[in-house]
Amino acid sequence: MSLRELYQEMIIDHGKSPRNFGKLDHASHLQVGHNPLCGDRLVIYIEENNGIVDKIRFEGTGCAISVASASLMTEAAMGKSVQEVENLFSRFHQLVTTGETMDDLGKLVVFAGVAAFPIRVKCATLPWHTLKAALRSSSNDSVSTE
Ligand code: ZN
Repeated sequence: MSLRELYQEMIIDHGKSPRNFGKLDHASHLQVGHNPLCGDRLVIYIEENNGIVDKIRFEGTGCAISVASASLMTEAAMGKSVQEVENLFSRFHQLVTTGETMDDLGKLVVFAGVAAFPIRVKCATLPWHTLKAALRSSSNDSVSTE
């Protein structure tokens, strides 16, 4: 199996069986993200304690790229500081726009191929933009109306 096929398999796997999928009942941050170009719509839930992303989950619907990206993002962000998550997003953004891989991206390198499909870049970065907005929102924004 080529590296490219392996990457595709991983995206298909996470797209079909996303990790950390569902709500967080005691989220300190919650944000809805929408990509109208593709129809992806995700909600990111975070439990942040002392600047650390203690728990992160997501739910929503979207194409395989956006769901797989959200799934792998939750795995990558869990346990990291807010600053580390923002740094990781900058590098991930570089990866999906230029295709340049970097050692510290771990499994996220599977999205390197997205760089060849500019319209898919928004699908891959939607969860990250949503996560960043969630972390920057105050806890008050996250009050659920349910
Ligand atoms: Zn999409």
